[in-house]
Amino acid sequence: MKKEGIDVIFTKSHTLQNELCHLKPLRGRLERKDVVYMVDCKLCQKSYIGETAQKFSDRAAQHKGCIRNKKRKNVFFMHIKQALGRKHKNKGTEAMFWDGVSYLDSERNWRRRKIKESIYINAYDASLEVKDLMNLEKGCKIDACWNEFNDFIKNEAEKRRSAQAKKLGIQRPTPKQRRRSPRLNNV
Ligand SMILES: [Zn+2]
Repeated sequence: MKKEGIDVIFTKSHTLQNELCHLKPLRGRLERKDVVYMVDCKLCQKSYIGETAQKFSDRAAQHKGCIRNKKRKNVFFMHIKQALGRKHKNKGTEAMFWDGVSYLDSERNWRRRKIKESIYINAYDASLEVKDLMNLEKGCKIDACWNEFNDFIKNEAEKRRSAQAKKLGIQRPTPKQRRRSPRLNNV
């Protein structure tokens, strides 16, 4: 972590919070750049955590194009295609809650943004293969020491998601409704 320029002091949770969360006030929210974002599926409890340097609206447009063109490398297309149950059948771009995107973090530096993305993915799903999220991969490898903070990071991220949803006037599943992995407890 130090190599990447991220200094984290583990004794105070505030320090971790300050390090991870540099969110600015909501304004032109779909045009935000340099973000770690989270998009929810409207049809199930799964979400996708990604990062982009582009405006989120541009990145979302690319994802939608991949869904329409049935790109097998696209995480959203594969979720709609592979998700079990009838509710995803024949659903396209409208299956995802693009306008309700939550921003978990913002970071201009590409490496740091990638690391943050991975830390959030790991906080939401600490299993070796991602099960609780739509993500097909875990992201870059991060030190196991982060597992200790998974509960904290996830809870703080959910608070930010709820606050953003409230401003948008939308309802999001509460953290309790989201499936909670027992592996995240008592690490
Ligand atoms: Zn789904």
